[in-house]
Amino acid sequence: MARIAVIGAGMGAMATAARLAVAGHRVTVYERGTTYGGAVGRYEREGFAFDTGPGLLHLPAVYRDLFVKTGRQPLESRVDMVRADPAVRHVLPHLGVDVTLPAASHGGVAAALDEAFGAGAGERWNGVLGRARDAWDATRRPLLEEPLRGGREALGSDPYPAVRRSGLLRRRPPTLAEVAARELGGGLGELLTGLVAPYGIDPGRAPASAAVLPYMEQTFGSWYVRGGMRELATAVHERCRERKVDFLFGAEVREVLVRDGRAAGLLLADGCEAPADFVVCGIDPRLLPEMAREAGAARGADAPSRVTLLLALRGARPARAVHRTLVHSPGLSATVLRPDDPATRPDADHEAVTVSAVCGPGGAGAAPSAEELLDLAGKAVPGLRERLLWQEALTPADVEAATGAVGGSVPAPSLAGAGGRLLHPANTTSVPGLYLAGGWAHPGGGLAHAGMTGALVAGLIVEGADFRGSR
Ligand SMILES: Cc1cc2nc3c(=O)[nH]c(=O)nc-3n(C[C@H](O)[C@H](O)[C@H](O)COP(=O)(O)OP(=O)(O)OC[C@H]3O[C@@H](n4cnc5c(N)ncnc54)[C@H](O)[C@@H]3O)c2cc1C
Repeated sequence: MARIAVIGAGMGAMATAARLAVAGHRVTVYERGTTYGGAVGRYEREGFAFDTGPGLLHLPAVYRDLFVKTGRQPLESRVDMVRADPAVRHVLPHLGVDVTLPAASHGGVAAALDEAFGAGAGERWNGVLGRARDAWDATRRPLLEEPLRGGREALGSDPYPAVRRSGLLRRRPPTLAEVAARELGGGLGELLTGLVAPYGIDPGRAPASAAVLPYMEQTFGSWYVRGGMRELATAVHERCRERKVDFLFGAEVREVLVRDGRAAGLLLADGCEAPADFVVCGIDPRLLPEMAREAGAARGADAPSRVTLLLALRGARPARAVHRTLVHSPGLSATVLRPDDPATRPDADHEAVTVSAVCGPGGAGAAPSAEELLDLAGKAVPGLRERLLWQEALTPADVEAATGAVGGSVPAPSLAGAGGRLLHPANTTSVPGLYLAGGWAHPGGGLAHAGMTGALVAGLIVEGADFRGSR
């Protein structure tokens, strides 16, 4: 039995802690805040309740697997997960397009797109997602389920089989925006890029392989946890506690102690030392001096943040309202979430709506104003301003307060292609005994991807160099 110190109580760190405890190790989580979950927070006021971080989960299999591997009770016995159906509504006010796509039906999606964009649109869309599936199949294991091996070059070339254009020399692989324009055209292309941008990924710079994200959403669905996404964090925390993981709150970590060339424990902000045989870092590596090399490889410097507007509305949520609407407009797009969940509102005569947009970290660049977000949200929710009771804005500073990440950066999922520029650092580090988990490590940020770091780091610590990946 080894003593394992885990830094931070975010989702990736907790997923790692639960798996290590089940493997028989003594695990302690050191969290600087007063609660678990990190970005997965909840804001409550006057009977309204809002998710302050992710509002939907993609790839629920990641957390199902965590619960299967760490105990008898499956995830579904702990949280009530519902698939968002319809999957997503796209509103493009500048083109007069308003299209709602059903969940779990390629045919239904194609039919809706044909109606909105003209005959053939659905076929073009399915063609792109079919090529995205090839990219997914080619990279799923090395990108998501296996430790990062062979350096960045191994995943550096773009697996998206872009359609070749006759007579043209390809000087470089196309970006996602170029693929969207060439293979989908006009407004339909905006749907593809608009599904990727909320991850904090710039479609104009991202490799075409970013199309795996819309593929993943359309194939595996977008899932909501009744009572709010914080319920998922609570379930993972409870699973950790059942497995005897210790949590120390108000315990800010200053340094990783390195003795005789290997990780030996933690130095806390109060000056106390916490000895350990292994250390798992579940936070932005730029926060710890020993992480200099890993931090250099982290994609933190340019990872954008989020602004989020929490809206308390009078009047009932219409039965036909769609859970997630993407409002695309040139220059600024927003995600509008309208969960059909009584736990989010004081009664049936009110509604809680969340609007979010990507913005530069730490206030870099012009963050959209509340007024701009309200205008966009009004395209998805008719009569929004007249129904508004009150609003609360969350800024990059609030994200930084929740996660500690510099400037409130939110790490994106890792992507293959672009010479490995969009990969995160490996879970192993240059210091033996020191591992990286959570959204800042391979395979990157987002609830599902960060959850995968738990399987990878636990596998690397338990099985050592023989670990070939999560099964
Ligand atoms: C506003 C917002 C919206 C998002 N939307 C989505 C979405 O739609 N879909 C999606 O999949 N993902 C989304 N994400 C990302 C997702 O929430 C995270 O990637 C995921 O929760 C994994 O987080 P993590 O494990 O990296 O830990 P984090 O959530 O970053 O938590 C880190 C924890 O470490 C603690 N900590 C920091 N420094 C120290 C220290 N020195 N000592 C001790 N503890 C420390 C922090 O207090 C925090 O509790 C969003 C995030 C934010 C902030």
